Amino acid sequence: MISKLIQESRKIVIKIGSNILSNDNGMINKKFLENFSDQVYHLMQQGKQIIIVSSGARIAGVATIGKWIRKEDIHYKQALCAIGQVELMDAYRKVFNRYDIHIGQVLLTKDDFLDPHRALNIRNTLFTLVDEGVIPIINENDSVSVEEIQIGDNDTLAALTTNIWNGNLLIMFSDIDGVYDKNPKKHCEAQLIERVQNADDLTKKIEIGEANSFGTGGIATKIEAARMVNDLGIPMILANGKKEDILLGLLAGTEKATLFLP
Ligand code: ADP
Repeated sequence: MISKLIQESRKIVIKIGSNILSNDNGMINKKFLENFSDQVYHLMQQGKQIIIVSSGARIAGVATIGKWIRKEDIHYKQALCAIGQVELMDAYRKVFNRYDIHIGQVLLTKDDFLDPHRALNIRNTLFTLVDEGVIPIINENDSVSVEEIQIGDNDTLAALTTNIWNGNLLIMFSDIDGVYDKNPKKHCEAQLIERVQNADDLTKKIEIGEANSFGTGGIATKIEAARMVNDLGIPMILANGKKEDILLGLLAGTEKATLFLP
């Protein structure tokens, strides 16, 4: 089912969570980015259009100015994101440059989608970039909004982006295989839920545990994102981006994930 869905989807939004962008020593995981870009290139070769929504500016900032890691002041966190965003985009630019693919940075806040004029501008920019073979890479504009830093709302941003672009599919990469009946990091017997037909109901049925140190939204904002795209008839896949060649594995039907169906 997942394999068929990816095969049939032309316009795909992929969201990358902070956890998979960093490696164990808190630096940007270049190996992940290389493998990820290889797979995106593979999909584009098949005629697919891709938009990336990427977290990770704060991780990249900490990796650049390590001495700020303990600053709890929100303005320092915002400043760290401003520094890290450049590093993050530089890392994406380098990996896609290997395929002569350009990337375009788009920084947005949730409020931008509420204003009809701004929403239209976002839509037009995304369509133009994608039509020209450029990959838009979207992140929350942390200097303007502090929501992503506080609650990891890039999940919502990914859903809003998918909806405004009329995407066919949202793929969300985290560091777990999908949604479980309880937090898999705490309970080894947790069961993966492979198909969700009603995202609204799901939160009542499962136990939602804490998120990781850098991830902030946790599983709740991912389920909410699924509900938002499902409302417009768009499916969402939550999969483990930490696994090598995960996109290809999903495409081949050899990897498991959670599929949220409208
Ligand atoms: P990301 O940074 O990739 O967006 P988060 O850390 O915000 O990810 O959220 C994913 C985390 O949510 C998982 O690593 C897991 O520890 C936690 N979690 C809590 N409850 C659940 C559950 N029922 N199913 C899956 N993951 C859960």
